[in-house]
Amino acid sequence: MNNLQEIKGLGPKKEKLLNSIGIYNKLDLIKYIPFDYLDLRKIYTPSTQNIDSTICLKVKIMSIGKTSFFKGKNRTKLVSLCDDIQIDLIYFNDRFTPRSFVLGEEYYLYGKLKFNNNRYFLNNPKKIEEANLKIIPKYRTKKGLNQKDIYKFIIECLNDIDISESLPSKLIKKYNFQSNYETYKNLHLPDNFENIIKSRKRLNYEAYLYNLLSYKYFNFSSKKIKNSLINVDKKKLKVFLSNLEFNLTKYQQKVLNDIIKDLESNFSMNRLIQGDVGSGKTIIGIIASYLVLESGFDCVFIGPTETLITQHYNNYKNLLKKFGIESYLLTGSTALKEKKLIKNNLLSNKAKILFSTHAAFEEDVAFYNLQLAIIDEQHKFGVRQRAKLIEKNPELNLIVMSATPIPRTLSLFLFNEENISVIEGFPLGRKKINTIVLDYSYEKKVFDFIVNNSKKGNKTYIVLPSIDESDDSDLNSVQSIYKKFTSYTGLEAFILHGKLSADEKNNAIENFKKKNGSVLISTTVIEVGIDVKEASLIVIYNSEMYGLAQLHQLRGRVGRGKVESTCILLLDRNKKTAFKRMEIMKNSTDGFYIAEKDLQLRGPGDILGTNQSGIQSEIDIISMENNKLFEEARQDVDKIISDDPRLEKEENSILKGEIIKSMDVDFLKRLN
Ligand code: ADP
Ligand code: MG
Repeated sequence: MNNLQEIKGLGPKKEKLLNSIGIYNKLDLIKYIPFDYLDLRKIYTPSTQNIDSTICLKVKIMSIGKTSFFKGKNRTKLVSLCDDIQIDLIYFNDRFTPRSFVLGEEYYLYGKLKFNNNRYFLNNPKKIEEANLKIIPKYRTKKGLNQKDIYKFIIECLNDIDISESLPSKLIKKYNFQSNYETYKNLHLPDNFENIIKSRKRLNYEAYLYNLLSYKYFNFSSKKIKNSLINVDKKKLKVFLSNLEFNLTKYQQKVLNDIIKDLESNFSMNRLIQGDVGSGKTIIGIIASYLVLESGFDCVFIGPTETLITQHYNNYKNLLKKFGIESYLLTGSTALKEKKLIKNNLLSNKAKILFSTHAAFEEDVAFYNLQLAIIDEQHKFGVRQRAKLIEKNPELNLIVMSATPIPRTLSLFLFNEENISVIEGFPLGRKKINTIVLDYSYEKKVFDFIVNNSKKGNKTYIVLPSIDESDDSDLNSVQSIYKKFTSYTGLEAFILHGKLSADEKNNAIENFKKKNGSVLISTTVIEVGIDVKEASLIVIYNSEMYGLAQLHQLRGRVGRGKVESTCILLLDRNKKTAFKRMEIMKNSTDGFYIAEKDLQLRGPGDILGTNQSGIQSEIDIISMENNKLFEEARQDVDKIISDDPRLEKEENSILKGEIIKSMDVDFLKRLN
């Protein structure tokens, strides 16, 4: 029933590609919602106002030129008329489309209107069937899996799937939501934008509700009595601290005191450490680990990416070794044999501290006596993962760290006031970061600027939203910018993204660190915690794709050393609302202020970990209402939990069912 292969035209190859973007069954497919829409209902005419806009035009073909060839490339020019205005249609490296036009016939074309030498033209415009002059959803694609495929599969799926209701009728009525089925239908087959907005609202509300509700349901914020007592040996602590290359700042010292108090108390610790990018959170986690290890218990230090956790492991293993502690590293790409050894060592109490990615949540990673878990960049993890840890030890002491400041409205709901510690300021001081917002017409100038930066011996990050080039996406990719950048500048550049092997990733980072004036072209994997002091320039493509908090994180990769640093945000000149949002980035480097703005503009998805893709939807109107929606969800949760804390009442059965289901969602997906 729910099997992907039942869909016409969907073979094992496409299924594998779908799996790689997290789609394992029909329901997942239905939930793969568009990130944006093309409005093809309006037909435009060429005018100066429309230059550089991507629009739909109706043209009449007046002449079809011969194809010319040059260095293995080809180019065909057609001349057309639209409202008596001449538009040239230029096709590069596409000999098929030009030949499909008939002289004198009319066509609907879609493309970016350009104007040069007193002439309008379109580069590689797409032909649109008259039947498709409507609102067309845009999906994230992948090499081998294009818009058309995804759309076709989804539409087919919509026709034969039962989508059960995931909200109690009381809440559906309260907000006048549409049914679950209608909601998804409106997103994939929209008649108008009002319905799209309505549907997005429901999905956002649901995400907030379930996130907050599971938090309360699993009782993460309430006090639990613990049996394993931890005695902090102050003398040993002093020796440990004297082995650091620096003295803790007074704020770090204060946070450490909070932690010591927690460790020594009779209740399990559940502490949030907030501190802006570069405020020095990691060492606090390491010290806490040391204290717990010295009391004879085990620790796990968890980070969201392999790159980050490997960096932590490499940075701190020698320090721990000085105190006779052997560190272990477990990630998705740890060899099977090594994995087995680590797991055995954990069980036999030989391995006491594990640095790990999500791998640590797996059931067969069992510790001898795990008493402390540290989750770095906690917003990258969901409630479910926390539950997995608590499963390992219900009395576990938990430290979560976040550089995306959590606005007070939210943090007070998730943690108790006394469980929040803040590291203020920066131990090394921070160099000023200048932020510049530019459209793509400045790309070459930006490249020149990078060359200049390299000549001075400083390092540059270039950040892209996708890895591969894809035909039908207007996102820039690591591959395409790599080609463009290296051929234009003649400079060498290193590449980093999630699909590389662990070795390749390490090499890229090592090379980037080692070489003077190096350039790293990367996806947002560098966002979390990568610490390279000589990096003084970061260029972010498609910056409209990210939330402000995420941009703040990315920007925090520079300004860590001695040099004054620059952040360049690139975006399409047509993205007017996004330009406005970027003003906030330009005018502030205060993480809390930016986070508060982000919450107002986009709701708490990034902070709660409900926006796992990290990708910003371009439908800005909706985001404006997210904060209100969140506030409503919060109040609903308060009411539900105070009335029925274990969700035992019949009216709450859907809620409970969804929470339980979501706790092991990956596992269930593979069963279906
Ligand atoms: P973040 O809070 O972003 O995770 P890190 O823990 O990566 O910050 O720390 C940033 C840098 O500051 C690291 O290189 C770390 O070694 C250094 N650092 C941390 N605390 C101090 C300190 N008290 N004095 C000097 N340097 C410090
Ligand atoms: Mg960090």
